[in-house]
Amino acid sequence: MKLSELQEKLVCPKCHSSLTLSEDPHGFVCKRCRLRYPIDDHGIPIMLPDEAIALKRKEL
Ligand SMILES: [Zn+2]
Repeated sequence: MKLSELQEKLVCPKCHSSLTLSEDPHGFVCKRCRLRYPIDDHGIPIMLPDEAIALKRKEL
């Protein structure tokens, strides 16, 4: 499945908001939580709050 298709199905595991696909750095972004869920080397999104990365100001 393409990431763009996944984006329509995935929601933030914390707040259940829809996500934005970020290309650089790669990941799914929740603007409400200000978190980025990374995508691993196999193209699998890691939808775990514990693995999420806090967004920097410029990424918001
Ligand atoms: Zn969220």
